Amino acid sequence: MVELKSNELSSYNIQYIKGVGEKRAQLFNKLGIYSVRDLITFYPRKYQDWSKNVSVLDAPEGEVVAIKATMVTPVKESLIRKGMTLYKCNFSDGQNVIHVTLFNNKYLAKALRTFDEYILYGKVEKSFTSASMTSPQIEKLEDADGIHPIYSATDKLNSRAIAKVVKTALDAIPHIDDTLTEEIRQRYNLCSLDFAIREIHFPTDSKNIEIARHRLIFEELLTLQLGLLKLKDKKETQNDLQLKTDCTDEFCALLPFELTNAQKRTIAECVADMQSGNAMNRLIQGDVGSGKTAVAAAVMYSAVKSGYQCAMMAPTEILATQHFESLSKLFDGTGLRVALLTGSTKAKEKREIKAALMDGEIDIIIGTHALIQNDVEFRELALVVTDEQHRFGVEQRATLAMKGKNPHLMVMSATPIPRTLGLIIYGDLDISILDELPPGRQEIRTDVVTSAYHSRIYSFIKKAVDGGNQAYIVCSLVDDNESDLVSAKEYAEELQTKVFTGYNLGLLHGKMKAKEKDAVMSAFARGDVQILVSTTVVEVGVDVPNATIMLIENADRFGLSALHQLRGRVGRGSDKSYCILVSDNNGDSAKERLQVMKSTNNGFKIADYDLKTRGPGDFFGKRQHGLPNLIIADMLGDMDTLKECQQCAGEMLEDDIRLDKYPALCENINNMFRKTDY
Ligand code: ADP
Ligand code: MG
Repeated sequence: MVELKSNELSSYNIQYIKGVGEKRAQLFNKLGIYSVRDLITFYPRKYQDWSKNVSVLDAPEGEVVAIKATMVTPVKESLIRKGMTLYKCNFSDGQNVIHVTLFNNKYLAKALRTFDEYILYGKVEKSFTSASMTSPQIEKLEDADGIHPIYSATDKLNSRAIAKVVKTALDAIPHIDDTLTEEIRQRYNLCSLDFAIREIHFPTDSKNIEIARHRLIFEELLTLQLGLLKLKDKKETQNDLQLKTDCTDEFCALLPFELTNAQKRTIAECVADMQSGNAMNRLIQGDVGSGKTAVAAAVMYSAVKSGYQCAMMAPTEILATQHFESLSKLFDGTGLRVALLTGSTKAKEKREIKAALMDGEIDIIIGTHALIQNDVEFRELALVVTDEQHRFGVEQRATLAMKGKNPHLMVMSATPIPRTLGLIIYGDLDISILDELPPGRQEIRTDVVTSAYHSRIYSFIKKAVDGGNQAYIVCSLVDDNESDLVSAKEYAEELQTKVFTGYNLGLLHGKMKAKEKDAVMSAFARGDVQILVSTTVVEVGVDVPNATIMLIENADRFGLSALHQLRGRVGRGSDKSYCILVSDNNGDSAKERLQVMKSTNNGFKIADYDLKTRGPGDFFGKRQHGLPNLIIADMLGDMDTLKECQQCAGEMLEDDIRLDKYPALCENINNMFRKTDY
């Protein structure tokens, strides 16, 4: 293969790497790998150390181990049913025999030779008389030394194949130029990028993995920091969309209630931002039920009164529809024109709305992310509000900022985030905190019980529903493979036929289409569905004040923040509300965690506890943080590195605001933020 220069890596298509070709390139594309650069920054998920092998006798049962063994019997093939062939053979480590079973792996079975030495890598199962392995990885001894990278693979592209292509590519690159200067590397004790990338894929020893990983994490967090700082810098530019008058008092007269002090303070902060001559970039962080919608409405009201248009985005149709309905009601009679635009708006209506937006006949448009599609244009868009921001990515935030003439941005989130993490995730935003709930809210009573209480809980729910209230029943994920967990679907059927006969049950789960979900959710909001059986999809934002019971099955399986969000779905009306956490987990930490839920309703306290005990990956759930997809950095484990990166980013920008000295790094920043133009 030809030599690849460091500056060609992003443009060199993997298709041209020796042994790849057009067809296999498509398999790589599925993993998000297009260029050689993508390939060499596709880091292993973990490693297998094949050099440390154990004897059959010493192999702990049920754990993945490497065993060095000789094949002692030829492979026996048997067809157990159509399309399923079993291959069996025996290996010996010199003292004990281990039985190996392979399913359908003809290729491997044919390659094995009696009396050759192999490394078997897999889980050992033991009975009184024998030991066995099912579908282990088998490698010839001479190929099996050292540490092997394991990549996230797909059906058609296994980890070994990926490793081979990575190796070919790395061999073709004489040197990977560094993104950082020698000076920075020394100051922060970092190895070279060339070393880091080669060692992260094919480590010489486990110490080098750590050195390489540290460098790559540093680089990733630094890129993120620089990107956010640049985004903030860009957004702090002026705009001429200043509020002419503060109409908050006028707005308050529309409300059926008095604003809390926290709401008033937050609205004032937003108004000040919008009068400053710079674009507002503010995060409104407030626990569930703290009244963020009213804050947004107040600020939008003033903006419209100054002659501007506003857009409000919600992560789901149901939420958008709810906002639309409550704002339409609130602004009824004020002359403000509010419209709704979502994925299911009819084509004709969509066209009309778009035209009206362009003509300035609509003041406030509410919708899902359909709103940020390119063909939606405004006459004078001055304010963009995004609700439940943690569901939107930084990249979408950036797209929005590009709409119109650099509009003011308000993002709202109910995920209470400890300050340090907030600084990273929302590094480009100012923050207002709604730390006060509207008065008169009833404390939600939370109980932790075992499943022995089910019949009592069911009668309790029936009583509430008979009295006109509604209930949520949240259970584990649908189609969960873990057999001890009942899936939402089966559970709902059982409840309907055996427990709640004659009641209207609805089912909501993650595999349903958005439209189906919305239909069920709307039926629940209307009161047609009395009991909603659901996976966690109810987590975000919906407001059904008539619902008073939240029953959560296998509560120990959920993160505390998720539980808190779920609990926030009840206690929204004037009736006493209950949250019942069912768990049969007797472990101390599970018990302690659920007791935290019982002991406090304060989202920040819960978040802190959650973060301390579980770390941010779990804390946010998969990709809920809305950050660019951090490839290897684990934020909590790397808090120290993060602090160093923040310092380093600050120093770099102070010294060279446009980062002219670091062209490669700039390219990475652009990649991380998906080529958003700064
Ligand atoms: P969240 O912050 O979770 O988005 P919402 O904006 O949905 O909260 O508000 C929750 C409920 O509280 C709504 O029914 C809203 O009308 C009501 N609410 C908001 N602010 C106040 C207030 N200051 N006094 C009384 N009720 C309020
Ligand atoms: Mg809300």
